[in-house]
Amino acid sequence: MEHNEKKFDVVIIGGGPSGCTAAFNLKKSGLNVLILDKAEFPRHKPCAGGITMKTLKHLPVNIDHLVEHTAKKMIFDFGGSKRVGLSHNIGSCVMVIRDEFDNHFFNETLKIGVKFRKINQIKNIQSLSTITIEVDNDQIECKYLIGADGANSVVRKLTSNLKYKNPVFAYEGKVPKNKTNIQTEFIFNKYGYAWIFPKKDHYNVGIGRLVPSPDNKKLSKKELFDFVSKRFNNENVDNITAYPIGTEGQEYQAVNNIFLVGDAAGFAESLLGEGIYNAVLSGKYAAKSIISSLYNKKSTAVENYNSFLSDLKNELQIYQKGSKILYGFPRISYWMMRLGLGKKFMNGYSEGKTLTEIMGKSNIFAN
Ligand SMILES: Cc1cc2nc3c(=O)[nH]c(=O)nc-3n(C[C@H](O)[C@H](O)[C@H](O)COP(=O)(O)OP(=O)(O)OC[C@H]3O[C@@H](n4cnc5c(N)ncnc54)[C@H](O)[C@@H]3O)c2cc1C
Repeated sequence: MEHNEKKFDVVIIGGGPSGCTAAFNLKKSGLNVLILDKAEFPRHKPCAGGITMKTLKHLPVNIDHLVEHTAKKMIFDFGGSKRVGLSHNIGSCVMVIRDEFDNHFFNETLKIGVKFRKINQIKNIQSLSTITIEVDNDQIECKYLIGADGANSVVRKLTSNLKYKNPVFAYEGKVPKNKTNIQTEFIFNKYGYAWIFPKKDHYNVGIGRLVPSPDNKKLSKKELFDFVSKRFNNENVDNITAYPIGTEGQEYQAVNNIFLVGDAAGFAESLLGEGIYNAVLSGKYAAKSIISSLYNKKSTAVENYNSFLSDLKNELQIYQKGSKILYGFPRISYWMMRLGLGKKFMNGYSEGKTLTEIMGKSNIFAN
């Protein structure tokens, strides 16, 4: 394929964790890769910045220097005095400042030769023998397109029928530490959760709605203030931002050499809203699907990716079942967590296991 500024092997729209993972793996295999993003990096992404141990196994860059805290102790709060405390000497996840993580990952990806263009608007995407992307006042051609543009994905809207019927929404902000020493906490209610994630000099606090409320009432900033004032006895929360989380991608199938990954495809899980793991995993498998189709003509890149998606669907369904139990039956969940399930989760997460593995099956995404 001709390598000039308008033609690429792969164009990736979105330079977050899913886009950078795909770009990194594709470039390492010698392909000519362009990332388009509407933001310049560093940029802000609303996120609590919890990265699980299983994610680190698939991340192509080292982030040790960005870790501000490790969740070796966790509290799961089901209301009233129903609190379950868990601990593990490795910890279930590392806490980073999300903007720093993305900026580092993006820069490491450009360092190996991935190209980047800041854009304003994707106007149209046409898929014939090659894919043509109409962007701003220009046209870019590629053989494969990866839509990694997050929960409000334009690539998804322009190229697929996938719609989010009950978009999950979450608010996050910062509370100064002021000599307090709170461990990682999840606080559950009927429709979702609140969290406290410790960083070096502050806590990232947030609320998210993972189950639609019967009246479809939207989550508001006031609920975050209410949570903070109850938990910290003040309303000292700032830098508040909010964003949807894509969780409805179970039925998604790739077509026409266009691959949605991460939140654009709805791959965040619906139990605790963890999205970075599946963003990284799907970015990696989109890249693998393309690369292996070039060396082994027996199956196309789309067939390879759709085979990965059927495995991912099983994993997402386990989370969905878990979510129904957790938010639908909090009392039962509390007792299950207290009587052994909590320890099993804490150990499994700390050992970098997927939920399928924690449930005793083998990990299909090991490589
Ligand atoms: C408040 C909150 C807290 C969260 N906390 C956690 C957590 O602690 N741990 C966790 O695992 N997950 C968390 N998540 C989920 C997680 O943030 C997402 O699942 C993850 O960011 C998805 O990564 P991505 O690469 O698919 O998309 P994104 O990270 O959203 O990246 C998309 C990229 O595409 C770009 N883009 C968007 N639209 C366009 C366009 N039209 N044209 C060009 N570029 C575009 C954006 O600028 C961005 O760079 C949280 C989500 C929220 C909202």
